Amino acid sequence: MLSPAIPAVPPGRGVFCNRTLNLRSVRAIGYDMDYTLVDYRVDAFERMVYAQARDRLASEGWPVGGFEFDGQMVTRGLVIDTELGNLVKANRFGFVKRAMHGTRMLDFAEQREAYGQVLVDLSDSRWVFLNTLFSLSEGCLFAQAVDLLDRGALPRPFDYSSLYRHVRAGVDAQHMEGHLKAEIAAAPERYVVQDPEAALALLDQKAAGKKLLLITNSEWSFTAKMMAHTYDRHLPTGMTWRHLFDLVIAAARKPAFFTEQGPFFEVVDEAGLLRPMAGPLRIGGIYLGGSAAQVEKDLGISGDEILYVGDHMFGDVHVSKRTLRWRTALVLRELEAEVSALEAYRPTELRLMSLMREKEALEARLSRARLALQRLHTGYGPATRIDAATLEARVYDLRGQLLALDAEIGPLAQAGGELTNARWGLLTRAGNDKSHLTRQIERYADIYTSRVSNLLHATPFAYFRSPRGSLPHDPAFQD
Ligand code: IMP
Ligand code: MG
Repeated sequence: MLSPAIPAVPPGRGVFCNRTLNLRSVRAIGYDMDYTLVDYRVDAFERMVYAQARDRLASEGWPVGGFEFDGQMVTRGLVIDTELGNLVKANRFGFVKRAMHGTRMLDFAEQREAYGQVLVDLSDSRWVFLNTLFSLSEGCLFAQAVDLLDRGALPRPFDYSSLYRHVRAGVDAQHMEGHLKAEIAAAPERYVVQDPEAALALLDQKAAGKKLLLITNSEWSFTAKMMAHTYDRHLPTGMTWRHLFDLVIAAARKPAFFTEQGPFFEVVDEAGLLRPMAGPLRIGGIYLGGSAAQVEKDLGISGDEILYVGDHMFGDVHVSKRTLRWRTALVLRELEAEVSALEAYRPTELRLMSLMREKEALEARLSRARLALQRLHTGYGPATRIDAATLEARVYDLRGQLLALDAEIGPLAQAGGELTNARWGLLTRAGNDKSHLTRQIERYADIYTSRVSNLLHATPFAYFRSPRGSLPHDPAFQD
């Protein structure tokens, strides 16, 4: 019998693997909620957080009246340099490849001056990594605030790091105070992207015997509203999102949830009444706070049997992997646009690669001609029949060819550096190298994908195998 047709999955919606993961040996799958199970329209969400934080600064006398959120100004994976008032993009080694002071991109000389001797080290509080899409409003507002500070337009003195802390506190307050959540809960259709396949993916996993856990930093009342809005309509009649999950843990305080032993509280009624948890976690229960260690203990499941899926590079993925060795999946929504842009760029990239091969060959010839001249002038080395004038003409000619080639390469390479975002380029690359974000994904995320529903196509029985990986000394197979 023919097997059923496998639906074609667009390349950007694959599940990509850094470290081999057999879903069949995963007994529990924990999910983060915001930007993981619930996918927000980034522009609408961040624009609102931004506007509220900006208005708060306006009420303190900041001249921010004309400021607007610019969704292209910053991207996830950039790093705020709180010492110099910059945003930077670093490669996997921490070298800064692009930088912006306030809202102005630094030119190459300025960048070298500022960062020639400096490596980005996220363990130093000078640097703040933009871990999630929630970071975009904060990054944009900080960049604009730096412009104000430089113009002397702020009502009281700040240095760049106190300025950052002030902006951060303003954005933080929007998430903590009720307005933001009240606005979203009142009109969720404006903010939430519906994805029926996510519900089906969870149903598949549950029916395949996985325990499903929801572990979110959001408050219980917000969690209940958003999950009902996003999932109930896509589930079989009579079923709600609550039936999907064996445990729901709200206000989890990640990353402390993974590193500390905080107490659980149990939500005992729909109004959200709480009581301290007595005894072990109960399947079907709703809890607040708590710790990952107790989840492991009460479910009798070890870290390598739990897959945690989240969008926050540090709070969801890095810490759960580092502390408890949970299996980890990063949700990186931008991946779809990134892969499409790479596909569209592919013909140009092939052309660029062929020009670069030409360039390398010319450079090698130039180096040999220069060396022959050097030996001739200095009078050492093997005898040669070529005279100095011929060698000089050859050097001159090769230099001319290289200049012409560079003029052709320049615009193609520049276009490659501007894919998806003219200022910052692709999230996952930094120049020819991997970005700092990519390095973290490689280290801490066993798999990564653009959204939860991509797991539908993979099925709960998938065996994700890491690619062999290439090394600089691998033999080159040219296409
Ligand atoms: P999770 O992704 O489901 O764990 O939930 C993230 C929660 O953190 C959401 O309720 C966000 O509103 C909240 N959040 C995001 N950024 C900030 C912040 O800067 N300060 C405080 N809360 C935040
Ligand atoms: Mg999240």
